[in-house]
Amino acid sequence: MMKEVFFRVSENLKLKLLLGTILTFGIYAGYLLIQRYLFFSPVSMEQTSLDRVIPFVPDSVYVYQSIWFLVPIAPWLMRTVKEIYRYTVGLLVICCISFTVFMVFPTIITRPESLVETNLLYQLLIQVDKELNAFPSLHVSLVLFHLLCCIKIFSEMNLRRRYKLIVWIWAMGIIFSTLLTKQHILYDVFGGILVGLLGYVIFDFENIFLAKLLPTGRVEKKIFAIHDGIVNFYAVQTTEGIVCIDAGWRESHIRKEFKRLELDVDDVVGVFLTHSHFDHSKCSHIFPAATIYSKYGGNSGARVTVRDKDSFQIHDIKIDVVETPGHSDCSVSYLLDDDFLFTGDLLQINKGKPSPFYGVLNSNNRALKGSICKIEKLQGVKCLLTSHHGITTHFSKI
Ligand SMILES: [Zn+2]
Repeated sequence: MMKEVFFRVSENLKLKLLLGTILTFGIYAGYLLIQRYLFFSPVSMEQTSLDRVIPFVPDSVYVYQSIWFLVPIAPWLMRTVKEIYRYTVGLLVICCISFTVFMVFPTIITRPESLVETNLLYQLLIQVDKELNAFPSLHVSLVLFHLLCCIKIFSEMNLRRRYKLIVWIWAMGIIFSTLLTKQHILYDVFGGILVGLLGYVIFDFENIFLAKLLPTGRVEKKIFAIHDGIVNFYAVQTTEGIVCIDAGWRESHIRKEFKRLELDVDDVVGVFLTHSHFDHSKCSHIFPAATIYSKYGGNSGARVTVRDKDSFQIHDIKIDVVETPGHSDCSVSYLLDDDFLFTGDLLQINKGKPSPFYGVLNSNNRALKGSICKIEKLQGVKCLLTSHHGITTHFSKI
């Protein structure tokens, strides 16, 4: 293990040193400057009842300051320039959001009255860090961001579980210490968690959203997947023409992919949209002969509004409509010939197992759960086809 650690640290060493120095000093200087030049008068946020119960423990400052040891682990273990670049973008997004809120909506904390007896490190902390910049907690967002980066890298390194557990406990300890030191209240912590998660999604965007996409090609006898950057849509061959499930978003790319599959966009007779988001629907206009079916469609000849339990026979294929709101109000799933269920953005698939689509990207998570219960009752589905996570035959495992 030490050999791999050494090898990883030495990869792109100069870049790491340079960026590490610039980012550390830049971010810290920015943080302190904002505290010293206020444009708006700060607001004191109301403590929650939980904040009042949590005691003031000055010695927890040691855990609080151990962030300086946790943060460098992940970036130093990164290998490629691309990885370091994405890490930097994630980190900068976290700082930009936090700094903007600190400036536009400055919040202030009330420190405990009995500070005289506290330890030296705590005294030092309150000398440097004023009561400002409380919401969202940058301490929390940075810890969470780096924790998730660590977990990802540890998995790549095949490290034993206990190492992951150690950083988890360590990070949770630091997050809790923001409350014990009375540097933050619960609202700040929640804010920090959201910002930290967003930073991580940006860092690991490719893996979260793109890695599971299918390449353009045949997935079943008469079904083709088309890869369009961040999304898959599907083309189904009928005896006379093609039916698409969703339509993608980049016109010239889609034309190229159709040519590669020896399909003709002019042969598309129907486009069934799972929902209206741009990556699924933007290019429905590039199929001149197609009728567009969707829940938000209108009924004007070329546009047909679909409803739950509608059934369409198009030459030799049958498409049944299952309304599955949650990701968006207009989300619909389509069942092809009782075998293939196209779920749009209702589900994600990890290691072959379907689960609900990312909560933060759904307009109504409760409705989404209801929709999942609804499709679970469908009998005899052989294959489930998603828009961002490929396909699975493990339909029963939802
Ligand atoms: Zn969507």
